[in-house]
Amino acid sequence: MSKKGKLLIVGFGPGHFAHITERARQAIQESEVIVGYNTYVDLIREILTDQEIVRTGMTEEVSRAQEAVRRAEQGKTVAVISSGDAGLYGMAGLVYEVLIEKGWRPGSGVEVEVIPGISAIHSCASLLGSPVMHDACTISLSDHLTPWETIAKRIEAAAAADFVIALYNPKSGRRTRQIVETQRILLKYRSPETPVGLVKSAYRERQNIVLTTLAEMLNHEIGMLTTVIIGNSTTFVYEGLMITPRGYQRKYTLSKEVQDLKPHQRLQVEAEPWSLNALERMQEHKETPKMTSTEVVDEETAHPVQLAEEALAVLQAKGLAATRIDSMPAGIPVSILEVAVSPGIANKKITPEQLVLLAEIAGDQGEIEYTPHHQLILRVPTDQPGQVADRLAAAGMLLSPVGDVVQLKACDFCDGDKGEAIPYAEELHRRLSGLQVPKELKIGFNGCAMACYGAVTEEIGIVYRRGTFDLFLGGKNIGRNAHPAQRVAEGIPPEQLIGAVEQVVREYAAQGHPNERFNKFFKRVKEVAGFMYSDEGKPVVAELACGD
Ligand code: SF4
Repeated sequence: MSKKGKLLIVGFGPGHFAHITERARQAIQESEVIVGYNTYVDLIREILTDQEIVRTGMTEEVSRAQEAVRRAEQGKTVAVISSGDAGLYGMAGLVYEVLIEKGWRPGSGVEVEVIPGISAIHSCASLLGSPVMHDACTISLSDHLTPWETIAKRIEAAAAADFVIALYNPKSGRRTRQIVETQRILLKYRSPETPVGLVKSAYRERQNIVLTTLAEMLNHEIGMLTTVIIGNSTTFVYEGLMITPRGYQRKYTLSKEVQDLKPHQRLQVEAEPWSLNALERMQEHKETPKMTSTEVVDEETAHPVQLAEEALAVLQAKGLAATRIDSMPAGIPVSILEVAVSPGIANKKITPEQLVLLAEIAGDQGEIEYTPHHQLILRVPTDQPGQVADRLAAAGMLLSPVGDVVQLKACDFCDGDKGEAIPYAEELHRRLSGLQVPKELKIGFNGCAMACYGAVTEEIGIVYRRGTFDLFLGGKNIGRNAHPAQRVAEGIPPEQLIGAVEQVVREYAAQGHPNERFNKFFKRVKEVAGFMYSDEGKPVVAELACGD
């Protein structure tokens, strides 16, 4: 009986010997014939012995697969090699297609083994830090075998769904427009500041790593050997590392060794109101009055369903363009843009043109809600939230995210007549608005001691007075136990205000429990950014304890 042949379809990883798996190494060494693209054969030459080499150039994948099958049918053990993983843009699928075309079935004919390798999404990610820490996808920009229309739809869907995206084959000598078009699509859904990693020749001799942003990425060299990794809405850069959080901070305070939620509590529906179970529970309680992400709920009476709605709103908030994927039809997905719109920080006058534009954008399907916090919330189904945001911004509208984020509520500074403090309000908005915090946090900012816009009842209140600022912390402006904030500092010099408030907010963001309001946080920790909590509720004239 003639010897039965074997096909070993091997992914040998990025190219360095240290990253070839033991099984891949064995498979190559036990083979009698190696079939591969010229460059790949050269990359593994050091571990080859006396195997027969069948090497071909690029675009000859089909003839390579046919030749491998033919040799295996002759009884040979044949290794078909691919860099990265053989099952991801490698040779595995093509070899199977050739076999199936010939009527091959598992169990009869030649034996087939696919040996996995480390693909570029993982090798490049390891060099960048940990950008692929959550749901991610790979998209090849090569339109030699896939219609560009299909590729563009995939980019659009992945961008809207907030996947981390690894772009393979981003550019070549003749394909230069695809990466430009890809950037254009991504910018409809992602901030221009989204971290982007460019890795060329990972773990090979000419390895090159560039950390940049979505807006800037085309200003760097991108070529055939580059893999482009686009972060999601939570990806950040720390000390030259690109990191996508796993999301543990929803339940854990990372700076603490002893967690507030005990292990048995962590998987309860109440501890994860964003979960499917919590959302289903919400559906079962449809009679519960609808609560929007902008309404403030007294925690003592908050229903888990309401918490789930709020959590959902958080999931919708993605920078300025908050989106929610409601469905994923065959074409471009539908999203709901939910965003707070206003005519400005101090400006409270909406022009007729702006109102007309808002109405036009909302159309029949959208809605505009006026909230107790003097906000207009726009919700509109759209597959192009970036364009909607651009239109509003071009009309002079200020867009702010909704959900568990920082929002600045400024007065109108007597229609600008008392406008000395406006630059500080604008700077605070620029630095802090939209920052994710454990619970929606409003900062009231009033331009004189009249404080007629109620800053002193907000969780953080700032009042400009005679060239300096008074700071109030821990107010609660609704509920039966509503109370004003404590005046924790008077006479803060303007140059120290921003740093002091930023420190307060960042400590809350880092140390607050999930869903813990700032007033409760302040009461619990007793001190934030050097400002002391007082049980007596007496105003405290404090020296500034922190600052720039
Ligand atoms: S707080 Fe003062 S500056 Fe602001 S609107 Fe009221 S009176 Fe005018």
